[in-house]
Amino acid sequence: MVAPAPTMYQDDSNGSVRAYFKNIYDTVRTIAIGMGITLKYCFARTITVQYPDVAPPVQPRWRGFHWFEAEKCIACDQCAKACPVDCIYIEKSGPRKIDKETGVAVGGALQRYAIDYSKCMFCALCCDPCPTDCIHMGDNHDLSAYTREDMIVEFTELAKAGKQTPEPFWMQQENIPEWAAQKKARWEERARPVREEMLKALQPSSPAKKE
Ligand code: SF4
Ligand code: SF4
Repeated sequence: MVAPAPTMYQDDSNGSVRAYFKNIYDTVRTIAIGMGITLKYCFARTITVQYPDVAPPVQPRWRGFHWFEAEKCIACDQCAKACPVDCIYIEKSGPRKIDKETGVAVGGALQRYAIDYSKCMFCALCCDPCPTDCIHMGDNHDLSAYTREDMIVEFTELAKAGKQTPEPFWMQQENIPEWAAQKKARWEERARPVREEMLKALQPSSPAKKE
């Protein structure tokens, strides 16, 4: 004798019972995993870095606040177009191009190059399309500010002061930890040779005349 086929009602009933117990199993399992991780950290050694007295560990390819070489920027807007959150602001007084004789940009003045760090997500998408390789992710991880406006870094203003990357407020004081003084010195050392060209980038200029 052939057994009768299960009815629609029986199928639904078996499925919902299975789903009920699966839900209980998933709940217990996920709580156990979460609590396991919590317990692991409860007994792990505490690591507290006494920043800024002690330098925080930063990996070599860390994407920090940008490093900008104003003297090479032709204000082509490629970086701004690539930025997914539109946080790069560029203004120029006329077309700019690289002078092949000197390797620095000439033409109209670079009036503004600014990045709004209240929006920036440090994705580095602005760096790759730059035709003159003048915008890079830097190695500074710290830039606290008191207002949203202060989160906008005016790189052209920094260029006037001979700087290519922003410094945290506390690093601008006299007595800073040794590691920070060394880092600041490295930044200054790197920008010093092009200080004059950085200033020229902010003014209209012509290509160098051939001898
Ligand atoms: S890092 Fe990303 S978000 Fe920040 S300025 Fe560059 S493209 Fe925009
Ligand atoms: S940083 Fe590079 S990509 Fe951006 S405007 Fe200047 S030259 Fe163009």
